Amino acid sequence: MDYNAKIYVAGHRGMVGAALVRRLRRAGFNNLVVRTSAELDLRNQAAVADFFADEQPEYVLLAAARVGGIHANNTFRADFLYDNLMIQSNVVQQSHVHGVRKLLFLGSSCIYPRLAPQPIREEHLLTGPLEPTNEPYAIAKIAGLKLCEAYRSQHGSNFITVMPTNLYGPGDNYNLETSHVLPALLRKFSEAAAQAAPAVTVWGTGTPRREFLHVDDLADACLHLLRHYDGAQPVNVGTGKDITIQELADLVAELTGYPGEVVFDFARPDGTPRKLLDVSRLHGLGWHHRIGLREGLQQVLTSADWLHATQPV
Ligand code: GDP
Repeated sequence: MDYNAKIYVAGHRGMVGAALVRRLRRAGFNNLVVRTSAELDLRNQAAVADFFADEQPEYVLLAAARVGGIHANNTFRADFLYDNLMIQSNVVQQSHVHGVRKLLFLGSSCIYPRLAPQPIREEHLLTGPLEPTNEPYAIAKIAGLKLCEAYRSQHGSNFITVMPTNLYGPGDNYNLETSHVLPALLRKFSEAAAQAAPAVTVWGTGTPRREFLHVDDLADACLHLLRHYDGAQPVNVGTGKDITIQELADLVAELTGYPGEVVFDFARPDGTPRKLLDVSRLHGLGWHHRIGLREGLQQVLTSADWLHATQPV
């Protein structure tokens, strides 16, 4: 790839998009195109068409999406389905119309069946029912993946798809109602430690297992795939290791120095019992993650980013 290639990073204000911009800049790419959602509403077909006609990007990284944790997914079900369908349809279609050389679509591990065999291989897609708490988001992401597949088979478009596991890192969402589990626990335990609170509440039973990847590792994997992968098959991106929510809570308690009690709120949903990706395809393509969970969490805890984000939101 030419370092002057015009690369559009859709969703650069989000945690993933921002990590992609940092990684691309560090690699030397100097012709990045970005737009805030206020400047360009990706749900608006005409606006997206105008943008592509004006900018004519050569590469597109589609990291724009409506995202959130289990409660947000389960509550804003229409928004998660509609917004994501619109964003990806507009960007993929315009990428085709304007002859984009390569597009990278970011999906999610929640596209796989709720009770998929573990670790989950890419081939397990559409082999069983989805987890109900995030079904609208998963349906949208499956549609996005299939859209890329269909443009490839009908038009020969080089649109690749990447399925990251649960992510964390700089620029995460720390709103306790809409966030994912990791930022929520970092915030809850840090605040409880600072205030010497007697207990921290963790949602669900603590038994679900989740895999966590630092967003800088995801961005690195995306750049690797952008450079070295032109296949039709989706590629899982993860660490290949998972832990229970209880273990995660214990780890965060240790790292934040919180000595108190942990209470599980059984009224909150557990979601899917386990979500561990099989990353052998990715490993076969020559990429491995670098940032372990403990190290990644320490990095997030010492960075100023999340401290600012814990102000009332
Ligand atoms: P999921 O991976 O799509 O289920 O999304 P989340 O990251 O939101 O939740 C993962 C697991 O962590 C679920 O079993 C949640 O019930 C559990 N969990 C425990 N405490 C929290 C919390 O404070 N916030 C969130 N979002 N999840 C929590």
